Amino acid sequence: MKRIMVRCKDKYIDMEKNTDMMEKVVSLCKRRGFVFQGSEIYGGLKGTWDFGPLGVLLNNNIKREWWKMFVEAREDMYGLDAAILMNAKVWEASGHVAGFFDPLVEDTETGERFRADHLLKDIGIDADGMSLEKIDSTIAEHGVKSPKGNALSPARQFNMMFESRIGATAGPEGTVYLRPETAQGIFVNFKNVLDSMSPKIPFGIAQVGKAFRNEIAPREFLFRVREFEQMEIEYFVKEADWETEYEKLRLDIQRWHEHIGLSSENIREYEVPEKDLAHYSKRTIDFEYNYPGKGFDELAGFAYRTDHDLKNHMKASGVSMEYIEPDGSRFVPHVLEPSFGVGRAITAILCEAYTEDEMNGEIRTYLKLPAYLAPYRVAVSPLLKNKPELVEKARAVFAALKKEFGNVAYDENGNIGKRYRRQDEIGTPACIVIDFETLGQENPELKDTVTVRNRDTGEQERVVIADLVEYLK
Ligand code: ATP
Repeated sequence: MKRIMVRCKDKYIDMEKNTDMMEKVVSLCKRRGFVFQGSEIYGGLKGTWDFGPLGVLLNNNIKREWWKMFVEAREDMYGLDAAILMNAKVWEASGHVAGFFDPLVEDTETGERFRADHLLKDIGIDADGMSLEKIDSTIAEHGVKSPKGNALSPARQFNMMFESRIGATAGPEGTVYLRPETAQGIFVNFKNVLDSMSPKIPFGIAQVGKAFRNEIAPREFLFRVREFEQMEIEYFVKEADWETEYEKLRLDIQRWHEHIGLSSENIREYEVPEKDLAHYSKRTIDFEYNYPGKGFDELAGFAYRTDHDLKNHMKASGVSMEYIEPDGSRFVPHVLEPSFGVGRAITAILCEAYTEDEMNGEIRTYLKLPAYLAPYRVAVSPLLKNKPELVEKARAVFAALKKEFGNVAYDENGNIGKRYRRQDEIGTPACIVIDFETLGQENPELKDTVTVRNRDTGEQERVVIADLVEYLK
């Protein structure tokens, strides 16, 4: 089959395959040990994915960079790591028990379940805020069927929280929920942080951790899953300052998306219209990414949640959530909430980085990842693996770099060309080769120098071993 390659935004896009670019990314993830289907050997468990050796590295790099930018580089942020299991009263006060629902419809023939709002979105109708009756009448009016062409059941509400039981307690007192967002762990610790750290307003509390949602129809790789990680901040402000602080954080979120390599034309800020805002929110922006084959959809959310959460917890728990000014005046702070999903960030980063080009007359695939996100910072190889003197030197260079960077690969399988392709495909920014020149056998001037090959250009440079760390930094 003839391939049609089009150069677009510094990328070669294969037009015949563009629509299944996501499939290519998913297949690369499986083949190269980034992401596997959860419980795969037992046929999988829908909505769950496992991170393999390279996925763990990428995942950790993203979270580390996020923590560095939003917590360590600032004076106004405090970290937190709350328990996943929380008292059920938390979810009653937050409104999740009574209202964390999605509208569900069933295929009347197969019993398959779908989100009614997603089926309507597919035909261009925004069902946000629609009652169940309105959803039913809209489905009837437009003749919406299940993807298999069968009639749909009436819509009903489906609570997305996973329920479990704690200890041996029977009855409703034993009910616990897996947290559907990390945010509430922050609100219930607000007073603890105030009392222990005496922060000055405005300040934020940041948390990275797992969240669980019993999604009706998990789909699109890591985009909509049942178990995922969030990186969230609750930023506490005086009510009068919310607009100024919102603008500052909005720019910080933009900087973050730049930092993880997402191009500005693939990011869109969707201002949620007033009629679709959650009842407690006065402003929400969805940061959307242009996912291949899917189009723009939510990557991260940024909501102004007023004082809704702290007030609800204050009322339900009886514990004061007031901030006290040096002059003794008290108030319940208002809250700005930037909320990021790690899985959606990984999907966007991989799609953005996935590149096909032509090198030495061959099509090659590589991940153009920023060096600080790449699973391996650098790979080290001896030119030939059956020459002990090359191997010994390569192992010494590898050990020194590993001590410095940690995430360094040692690769001696196949010929050099194959090693380069393999490292390109997983996004390793640089490959170092120890050859006979390194040993100074042919040209003494080149003793203790190595070849460093650049992933993106394929160009090679000779670098003195002693300068490698500095060169790669
Ligand atoms: P959506 O409308 O797409 O369901 P949401 O508005 O419910 O998302 P939030 O409650 O704002 O999402 O959660 C914050 C972030 O958590 C989202 O921007 C997304 O990155 C991530 N997230 C939420 N639900 C999921 C999920 N089921 N799978 C993967 N990531 C998710």
